[in-house]
Amino acid sequence: MSDEQADQPVTRRQAAALAARAATHVIEWLSVWQVAALFFLVPTAWSRQKLPHTHRQLKNTMTTSITHTQDPYRLPRHVIPTHYDLRIDPDLRSHSFTGHEIVTLTVIEPTTEILLNATELDVSTATLSAEGQPPRTGTVQMDEDHQRCRINFPAAVPPGIWQLHLVFRGTLNDKLRGFYRSSYKDAQGVAHTLAATQFEATDARRAFPCWDEPQFKAVFAVTLAIDPSLTAISNTRIVDDRVEGGKRVLRFAESMKMSTYLVAFIVGKLESTAPIMAQQTPVRLWSVPGKQHLTPFGHEIAVYSLNFLADYYGSPYPGDKLDLIAIPDFASGAMENLGAITFRETALLLDQHTATHAEQGRIADVVAHENAHMWFGDLVTMAWWNGLWLNEAFATFMEMLVVDAWKPGWERWTAFGMARAAALSVDGLLSTRPIEFPVRAPKEAEAMFDVLTYEKGASVLRMLEQHIGPTVFRDGVRHYLTAHAYGNAETTDLWVSLGQTSQQDVPALMNEWIFSPGYPLLSLAVESSSTLILTQRRFAYAEDSSATSSGAGTQCWQVPVQLRIITTRGTETRRVLLSDRENRIPLPEGWTSVLANEGGHGFYRVRYSAGLLSGLQKSGLNNLAPVERFNLLNDTWAATIAGMVSPGDYLALTEHFRDEQDPHVWAVMLGSFSTINHLLAEEDRPMLAALVRDRITPTFRNLGWTPRADERDLVKELRGDIIRGLGTLGRDQAIQAQALDAYTALQQQTRHIDPNVIPALVSILAFTGDDARYEEFVGRFRKATTPQEERRYLFSLAAFRTPALLERTLAKTLTDEIRTQDAPFLVSSLLNNVYIREKAWEFVKTNWERMDKLFPKSGLRRMCGGITGLSTPELERDVRHFFASRKIDLGGKTLEQYLEQLHIAVQFRERDRDAIRAMLARKAT
Ligand SMILES: [Zn+2]
Repeated sequence: MSDEQADQPVTRRQAAALAARAATHVIEWLSVWQVAALFFLVPTAWSRQKLPHTHRQLKNTMTTSITHTQDPYRLPRHVIPTHYDLRIDPDLRSHSFTGHEIVTLTVIEPTTEILLNATELDVSTATLSAEGQPPRTGTVQMDEDHQRCRINFPAAVPPGIWQLHLVFRGTLNDKLRGFYRSSYKDAQGVAHTLAATQFEATDARRAFPCWDEPQFKAVFAVTLAIDPSLTAISNTRIVDDRVEGGKRVLRFAESMKMSTYLVAFIVGKLESTAPIMAQQTPVRLWSVPGKQHLTPFGHEIAVYSLNFLADYYGSPYPGDKLDLIAIPDFASGAMENLGAITFRETALLLDQHTATHAEQGRIADVVAHENAHMWFGDLVTMAWWNGLWLNEAFATFMEMLVVDAWKPGWERWTAFGMARAAALSVDGLLSTRPIEFPVRAPKEAEAMFDVLTYEKGASVLRMLEQHIGPTVFRDGVRHYLTAHAYGNAETTDLWVSLGQTSQQDVPALMNEWIFSPGYPLLSLAVESSSTLILTQRRFAYAEDSSATSSGAGTQCWQVPVQLRIITTRGTETRRVLLSDRENRIPLPEGWTSVLANEGGHGFYRVRYSAGLLSGLQKSGLNNLAPVERFNLLNDTWAATIAGMVSPGDYLALTEHFRDEQDPHVWAVMLGSFSTINHLLAEEDRPMLAALVRDRITPTFRNLGWTPRADERDLVKELRGDIIRGLGTLGRDQAIQAQALDAYTALQQQTRHIDPNVIPALVSILAFTGDDARYEEFVGRFRKATTPQEERRYLFSLAAFRTPALLERTLAKTLTDEIRTQDAPFLVSSLLNNVYIREKAWEFVKTNWERMDKLFPKSGLRRMCGGITGLSTPELERDVRHFFASRKIDLGGKTLEQYLEQLHIAVQFRERDRDAIRAMLARKAT
């Protein structure tokens, strides 16, 4: 699955960092850096508790005895499904469906009871039959608390092969999970309904009774009986299409053996592209009518990535066709149903002539990510949800690899620095968790879709890949896929495969990274001018008094470190694997500077002694790769939040980046300025604006308003970021006036405006906008012709400064003017907007019950990420009181992490605000 993230207005890099799936707060763009900043601001500290488990304890194998009857969230293993013959008759008018299924079962031990998953379904009959046996009718009892269906038989069912016939009915809900309804208006303004599924993690049970655990893999033969004016898609090709009793009955080919969460069906008025073949596989893109002109870009990356992946994995695509379907209402970003991948529209459809680089990148990433899952996830699946991280981390890693190969000029691995930075932020919290941890209830599985699963997971895989070598790594992945095809695997199975191909002790290397929270801070110093001392300790925001007793203080990682040593004779690269807390490395004669984390692939932070830092500066920061400059600045900013570096020293360092040309490095700087903007009072913000102008202007002068003929995409994107920064945080009046001119020219079509600049124009105009502008943007949101444009204008409504206008936006979030897939993100943006945050918080408190009912669960969780922007002591107290008194649980450690992030933001404000203000005042005079 791909999570929805801050996309449109935000650049892809910023999006990765701020949204960062887990703590995704935001999609604002006026104050995009305020939000980005919050991510960088997240500090670290020692974890109080180390979870007392090992991977062995997590291991779960399919046992044949009734081992799980004591666990209300696991099904017993004495009845195993192997085949589902499933027919669904959806009625889009009455928002309901009926179903009939025949599940072929292997009964292993005599039993009077069959237990399977179902929820919010009305199961009317259950009959068991087998060859040469009289049919047996069971009594059905629903256990809604545990989402199970219990079928009892008067006499024991003997072992053997049986067929269970079930008849059931359900509702097409509006909660964007299970089998749900989505709506859209056509070009004439007529409303239509379509029905789609979203089953991961545990919502297949909302559409049909099933053994809804990833380990119960089976073959699915789906039949959909629909209104003849509609179309339907499922995981496989259509093998029969006929009209029966006034209905169009579509029978789909049998699927490969797969988990329930990958089954999909979509029904509605849909249009598709002609197929393009990727080796033997026809690839098509689907949309609601009228949007087919937005498919070519997504189609191209879909075909490219499928070919790339088949080659990388060394095995053909496992399905018989591949459809990619844009759904108007979709809770996450996309979902990897085998052969029928579903997307929210912004993640699949775009107009190539008007889309920004960031918008293109977003689609390329998500399409590549989902395609990567067809093998890693669909063909080989985690045995249980504790292994979800590997599924998602690997797909995230592969999405980089694919897009990097497709568009080398996009420097995808440099951009990944932002995602890594977001993971470093959350993983620095006391309330972080190990990447892999025990999961029992479905809610805990849902909470695993976070920055630690995706971004930390992908970061440590990249670190491992670079350490053992890309070819050896790929061969290990091939070995793993071959060994476990059509089955399930544990994390350790991948380490075994990688260990075999690399001839290294991969489990020993990876265990601390996977099964323990946090990561190291490497401190570098020189002794006797000839020995480099490298010490590691867990990165901490503040010393935690419980660290020693909990053992966190003695955590030690195996850290693959790449050093670049510059000497008077040239440059030398050294690779070392640190395994001790202190490591001594002799330096060559004539050395002048040392860089740790060369290439930027390491998942750790670096701190240099004063001498080493000045050595790096003397040898020229421009000689560092962009990702190395990014890490240097990002690590220093994190140390500032942690109180190890003074804000003055950090801001002095940013002076060296006044002419920076890399958008990722700029994202760190703009993020940090935004954090500072968040903690200042309004009357002090003009002083910060002056500093922002001082830093940005040289880069802007270099770029100007208009792209040069041969300009790289990244530079075009940087121009947009820079202009937005100047016009909003920098409050540059000349830029604001020019933005208005450019916007007017754009609307009147009197001048070509580069698409990458347009989001910045909208941001600036919202920032400076009045009532009339607000109404204009509302109109543009309603009449938008692309998903990107719709989103851009929607989120601009959270980026104004006038409270009365922002209150209008707040009110809209609870109306059907805004889709529930978007509304929670908009609320999150408003919680982060310093001009409305108090009122937005009051609004959330007042309307909590309604929001809880209205918004998808994942959206509500993301919305709550917005509380990290409420960074005053008074608001923090109120936030804590609210969540505690309501006993709100967002699943896993999500809420705890938000509250800790908020606390750190407040602490930073209380500790450093006066010093920052004084320093800005000195600069201003
Ligand atoms: Zn995924």
